[in-house]
Amino acid sequence: TKVGIDAGGTLIKIAYLKNDKVELVKFPSSQMSFTVSWLHEKFPAARFCVTGGKSDVLQRHLQLSVLKMAEFEATCKGVLFLLQETEDMPQEFVLTNVGTGTSVHIVRPDGHFRIGGTGVGGGTLLGLSRLLTEVSDYDDIVRLAPQGVRDRVDLKVSHIYEGSEPPISGDLTASNFGNITGISSGIETPDYLASVIGLVGETVTTVSVHAAMQHGLSAIVYIGSSFIGNEALAKVVADYTILRGAHPLLLKNGEYSGAIGALLSI
Ligand code: ATP
Ligand code: MG
Repeated sequence: TKVGIDAGGTLIKIAYLKNDKVELVKFPSSQMSFTVSWLHEKFPAARFCVTGGKSDVLQRHLQLSVLKMAEFEATCKGVLFLLQETEDMPQEFVLTNVGTGTSVHIVRPDGHFRIGGTGVGGGTLLGLSRLLTEVSDYDDIVRLAPQGVRDRVDLKVSHIYEGSEPPISGDLTASNFGNITGISSGIETPDYLASVIGLVGETVTTVSVHAAMQHGLSAIVYIGSSFIGNEALAKVVADYTILRGAHPLLLKNGEYSGAIGALLSI
């Protein structure tokens, strides 16, 4: 058996073949010992390829010799594999991985490189949500956020240009969390969560759109576990990317790109 593993800052993603079909599973990186026991039990005689920031920690726990792979290499390889199954596969694109942090890459037929990123990512989503609302469970955050109203927290361009025609779309956010001033009551937990997701979504989108413009690209492929079950984030990112004139593609199972890329490299 072959097993590809992407040990990230928050989640360990695993891809393996079962009856010629790719199976995908994830564990929290905080449960390293449990994950390694699971791996030993499930794959007593497998070949492993490991990628991600916690590769070395995982390898020490595994106590096996494993193949190691550079994170961005694995991620891009996995993305190109997953893209084959989508209808409108772009030939060249910006790749944005919203993991614990956010990493942005340029992918072209002749190669790929990391162009930058932002510290605003899935970890920010968890951290700010916890600070503002005391909701700390990821599943609770993504369940509650869609009920929130961002207008109570964020300031839109149309809020500033009240009663007159703004020079840019009134729907654009003028200031994330900029509407808090003066309002001290009536803001509910889901409102804060929706606005945290708005902040993360708009930040990663802005960075991505600028990268696309700089390199003459229009397609932006978004991946990362921050989109898992997170309709609110997916919507902010898709809508905002379109509003900024680019073409978003939220890749199904994209969070497993690194693990799949590692699996394909054995
Ligand atoms: P990095 O690539 O930055 O090292 P990573 O690979 O662990 O980190 P991802 O797995 O892509 O990152 O995404 C992690 C984010 O996904 C978390 O910060 C959180 O916002 C979100 N997330 C989704 N599901 C969960 C979960 N079950 N537990 C915790 N976070 C989750
Ligand atoms: Mg990662």
